[in-house]
Amino acid sequence: MKNDLRKALEEIEYFLLDMDGTIYLSDDPIGDMANTLNFLREKGKKIIYLTNNSSKNVIKYVEKLKKLNFYADSDEVYSSALGAVEYITDNYKGQSVHVLGTENVKEELKNKGLNVTESLHADIALLTYDVELTYEKLCNFVKCINNGAKYFATHPDACCPNVEVFLPDAGSFIKMIEVSNGFTPEVIIGKPSTVMGDNLMRRLNLTPNKFIMVGDRLHTDIKFGVNCNFYTMLVMSGETTKEVLEKSPTKPDFILDSLNDVKNYF
Ligand SMILES: [Mg+2]
Repeated sequence: MKNDLRKALEEIEYFLLDMDGTIYLSDDPIGDMANTLNFLREKGKKIIYLTNNSSKNVIKYVEKLKKLNFYADSDEVYSSALGAVEYITDNYKGQSVHVLGTENVKEELKNKGLNVTESLHADIALLTYDVELTYEKLCNFVKCINNGAKYFATHPDACCPNVEVFLPDAGSFIKMIEVSNGFTPEVIIGKPSTVMGDNLMRRLNLTPNKFIMVGDRLHTDIKFGVNCNFYTMLVMSGETTKEVLEKSPTKPDFILDSLNDVKNYF
């Protein structure tokens, strides 16, 4: 593996980094990650923080990353909410969007040019990770789909890593709606779908071999990288155990204990 990764690093331009479990765990950086990220930049690699989490806007992520001493620019954070903006703008420009989401994220989507509405007769119903979810919001969202809106979701993750206990994420909201009404999303934007990868390749005008997806989850991060034909690196600093890896049909190109070890391959 050592030689292969060394060789791959010569052509890779962009490190697409999952966040929780990959560069930090909750509020703690993994090892000396700030140093590792600086090292990658010194080697001329560009970084994009790629997250399925659509509960926060980009400014909040940049604040969090800076608090951990990770240098971060707002154009380096790419969330599934921003992926949804690009997807809707490219394919359904101007159509109205009823968002199940936090006020923060609704504001961000508006600022990025989406026609966000509270109407139950919107063209599109977009489910995000709404950590301000209420029963009323959920019912309105379902009514909107029932009224004929196209149903999209930002990401499929069922749970959000947390120190004490896994917390319900957007994927569990998707299930709740499916169980109650039978509605399922036509499109899910986040990893492992290729939407965000396709957007990046087009926006940066680069081929897949210029990217490596680094993450701690096989069925989202690594599957995404495989689906996009990117290089993939699984880090064992988060969710995946050796047992899970052995049984998984999704195999990463490279496996490291943590991203900090990448320094040994330059
Ligand atoms: Mg993760």
